[in-house]
Amino acid sequence: VQLNVSGILCMLRITEVKLPLEHPESDIKDAILTRLCIPADQLISFTITRRGFDARKLSNITFIYTLDVEVKDEQAILKRLKSDKHLSLTPDTQYQFVTQAPAQLTTRPVVIGMGPAGIFAGLILAQMGFRPIILERGKAVRERTKDTFALWRQGVLNPESNVQFGEGGAGTFSDGKLHSQIKDPKHYGKKVLTEFVKAGAPPEILYVSKPHIGTFRLVGVVEKMRATIEALGGEIHFQSRVDNIDINNGQVSGVVLSSGKRIATNNIILAIGHSARDTFQMLYDQGVYIEAKPFSIGFRVEHPQSLIDHCRFGKYAGNPLLGAADYKLVHHCKNGRSVYSFCMCPGGTVVAAASEPGRVVTNGMSQYSRNERNANSGIVVGITPEDYPGDPLSGMAFQRKWEERAFELGGRNYQAPGQLVGDFIAGKPSTAFGSVQPSYTPGVHLGDLSTALPDFAIEAIREALPAFEKQIKGFAMHDAVLTGVETRTSSPIRIKRNDDFQSINTQGLFPTGEGAGYAGGILSAAVDGIKVAEALALNIMHQIGPK
Ligand code: FAD
Repeated sequence: VQLNVSGILCMLRITEVKLPLEHPESDIKDAILTRLCIPADQLISFTITRRGFDARKLSNITFIYTLDVEVKDEQAILKRLKSDKHLSLTPDTQYQFVTQAPAQLTTRPVVIGMGPAGIFAGLILAQMGFRPIILERGKAVRERTKDTFALWRQGVLNPESNVQFGEGGAGTFSDGKLHSQIKDPKHYGKKVLTEFVKAGAPPEILYVSKPHIGTFRLVGVVEKMRATIEALGGEIHFQSRVDNIDINNGQVSGVVLSSGKRIATNNIILAIGHSARDTFQMLYDQGVYIEAKPFSIGFRVEHPQSLIDHCRFGKYAGNPLLGAADYKLVHHCKNGRSVYSFCMCPGGTVVAAASEPGRVVTNGMSQYSRNERNANSGIVVGITPEDYPGDPLSGMAFQRKWEERAFELGGRNYQAPGQLVGDFIAGKPSTAFGSVQPSYTPGVHLGDLSTALPDFAIEAIREALPAFEKQIKGFAMHDAVLTGVETRTSSPIRIKRNDDFQSINTQGLFPTGEGAGYAGGILSAAVDGIKVAEALALNIMHQIGPK
């Protein structure tokens, strides 16, 4: 029996094990025995490492498994089946800490922001013994939920406690999709998912190909992770907005909170998300290097979920093993723009995602069950700094302009402006909903969206919707509902950093996550948070030198 470097038993990994959708559990074991050509007594145990499905043939949707199996003599099997490219030793994906803080360490790092990037940076630092101080401008997640509902149900916005700000960050009221296309040779993603499961997320997220948690479960997960960080000596302060960072000779020396309190530190993780516009401004005014970056703008679209299910799964539509179907669409337009679907939420709702008074922003979320009647996604157009020339913060001004326009078109009460897809394509204002009832609350104000975004974006989306019809029959249905505007697809800036993860002109400042322009989505922000935590820990160890 061989052990890997983590001291864990070597296993064999079998990929591409195809089984019918509705197969008995015992078929997995039988498939292993057949693939390895071994008798049952040679197989000790197995685990499902990944389960996806192949829905390309609607007449026969199949599950595709990756399995890790423990057998009596893995080397002999590997030798015998050496030509099988779907068989290998299981890679070692165990997370290894890069260092451990000495027990007498007095210096403490500060983490600004408690979204996925800040939580994972804080957790890893705490697990390595660095006792981080986490400062979050919003409230603890349960109180924050009440404030968020106040906007959704009564049209009352709290600019410091909302969908964007508060414990758990922007992804808390979301679909909780946890897949990402980032390169991850060190298996940081596995560490993230493992910690989520330890905190109460469903264990299947470790193996299903497109894992998701859903909003209500995320709330509990975030609370448990907070308790873990605190149990390891970390401190978490809510309603603690950082209004200033002290920088002396290009090195950070502390942070100043909105209360006036100052915390001295030489190491700061900046995990502020893409909506902290006042903090972006403060950093820019302080001379921290920032550059404008591309992002996307558009509308949310809502269709009946059953339409998407039938198109994607045919006769299997509604099968609980498959869940609600998703889609991913791209169209390259004649005017040179690309339109694509963003943050698709199967069986979910469109949500009010504003964080500033007098502005309207849409996004999407769902519960774990994904059983709401509509499917929604952002239909967005890629834009670049050439579309918003000016200083590095001009993308932010551009977002504000269109969010204000949406507030105006929606009736100045946080309702979202909307239009039916058929009317939008035909250039006619909408006056009544048809078969699709929109899910956005506090409400959708029907009218004409043709002035809700720049002309090039309207033109591109008008061209893309009928093009998407070719991929999903019914996508351009007359009664599908568009609501706007979707402007917070990613950060309009990058807080540029060096290979050592520190700002290129400010030592001790470690920008991370979506706001810094280094991640897009929960998983990638969390992974980025781990990477900066490692870099910061090594920086402290370097600063204190050998004992
Ligand atoms: P954030 O999550 O934005 O966290 C930043 C935190 O910093 C906030 O809590 C904020 O209050 C705090 N902060 C800001 N400034 C200060 C300051 N000056 N002082 C103290 N604290 C400060 N992604 C997915 O992968 N899957 C999804 O299903 C998904 N759905 C989404 C649905 C919605 C409604 C929204 C809004 C986003 C969704 N996203 C989703 C995107 C995802 O939430 C973000 O990519 C992710 O949260 C980014 O993580 P982050 O830690 O970088 O920033």
